[in-house]
Amino acid sequence: MVETTTKPGKVAMVGTPCHMIAAAKLEKSSDILGETPIDIKIGLFCMENFSYSYMKKLLEENNIDINNVKECRIEKNFLWFYLEEEKLFKIPIEKAKSCIRKNCNICMDFTSELSDVSIGSVGSEKGWSTIIIRTDKGLELVRNAEQHKYIKTKAIEESGIQIIKKLANKKKKENLEEITKRERVGRPVIYRRQMPPEKYIEEVLKCQFQDLKGDVIDIGACVLCGACNYVCPEEIIQIQDRKPQLNGKCPEGCNLCYVACPRTYIPDDILSKKADKKPLVDYIEILSAKAPMIKGQNGGVATALLNYTLSENLVENVVIIDKSDSEAWKPEAIITNNTTDVIKAAGTKYAACNVFTPLKKLNNGNGRV
Ligand SMILES: Cc1cc2nc3c(=O)[nH]c(=O)nc-3n(C[C@H](O)[C@H](O)[C@H](O)COP(=O)(O)OP(=O)(O)OC[C@H]3O[C@@H](n4cnc5c(N)ncnc54)[C@H](O)[C@@H]3O)c2cc1C
Ligand code: SF4
Ligand code: SF4
Ligand code: SF4
Repeated sequence: MVETTTKPGKVAMVGTPCHMIAAAKLEKSSDILGETPIDIKIGLFCMENFSYSYMKKLLEENNIDINNVKECRIEKNFLWFYLEEEKLFKIPIEKAKSCIRKNCNICMDFTSELSDVSIGSVGSEKGWSTIIIRTDKGLELVRNAEQHKYIKTKAIEESGIQIIKKLANKKKKENLEEITKRERVGRPVIYRRQMPPEKYIEEVLKCQFQDLKGDVIDIGACVLCGACNYVCPEEIIQIQDRKPQLNGKCPEGCNLCYVACPRTYIPDDILSKKADKKPLVDYIEILSAKAPMIKGQNGGVATALLNYTLSENLVENVVIIDKSDSEAWKPEAIITNNTTDVIKAAGTKYAACNVFTPLKKLNNGNGRV
């Protein structure tokens, strides 16, 4: 077994591929943004995400109260809603297209290419998760969690890997077409304009919130991750009406929100265009995995790995996405060191969520946003 060391103040996070890009930017830009607390990145597969309010409206139009939804799944090109009294409502994804967030149409990453471990359902049998181990840290985490019986793993079928590659390629191809289309009509997709790190610094240091608004928020590129809100030293960004808004005046020379955002410029050493041609990019191993004691969306592996990091003191806290107590199925990010919270947050909420905001509360408050 590989020995692990305790990292005080460190955090493990779970999130979609765009969250992983933001986390990688925070890490790489530590000379500008300060050291990031995020030490372990557990990424999810993600083909698309939905607007919470549009999804709720879509259900209402079909006479379904979101409060009666017990479980939500995306399988075989359908959105499945499991309702009370064993009733089921399903709708083709094609018909739910109006609920898909516009920023998802310019997203090229299906498998959380910048995470330590990526987890999804595609490729494995029902009740199991597929995991792609991407870094040595991810390998150590998975191996040790298995050794301590948090998860069990088995080889994945070659046909499973081929399905994941096919879907990853499909997303890259279709969304590259959309990016090209947007660029042609003057809606630049800034995050795709990669550049050498030196030029990147020169470019981003000129920008403030108004540039973030023009380059990302107003043109439908914001993924609503909350990274801008987390890094703002003046605490003048609020996430309102489904987008970040400025509530104050930026001091001269500040550019932190622009630096942190996963949809502004990204230096080549974080995201390279070579990734366009490699469906899963680099990885160490792909496996099927299951956490026998957890009821998760698939194999419960994300929950089990997060709880392993807490129980073994690899990190002090984890950022997870729970369901709001007041609005059914609305995702709500929390930071916690309690494994019971992590188990409660198992399962996928198909809506965008500002996962970075709770990091602001590391030193004050209860960590719930
Ligand atoms: C928006 C979205 C789209 C997805 N699309 C696909 C797909 O197309 N194909 C595929 O194979 N898999 C997809 N997944 C991943 C899949 O739904 C499972 O999350 C994954 O298989 C892990 O299952 P598990 O049982 O191991 O996780 P669990 O143990 O159930 O844990 C799930 C974790 O996901 C986190 N989470 C829940 N909702 C969100 C959210 N909105 N944003 C960020 N984190 C969240 C929770 O904090 C929890 O820790 C998607 C996930 C999301 C959030
Ligand atoms: S931008 Fe959309 S599709 Fe891409 S990872 Fe984020 S939520 Fe998923
Ligand atoms: S103060 Fe800085 S981080 Fe905050 S909104 Fe203004 S430019 Fe962005
Ligand atoms: S504008 Fe803010 S919330 Fe939107 S993607 Fe950028 S950092 Fe995330």
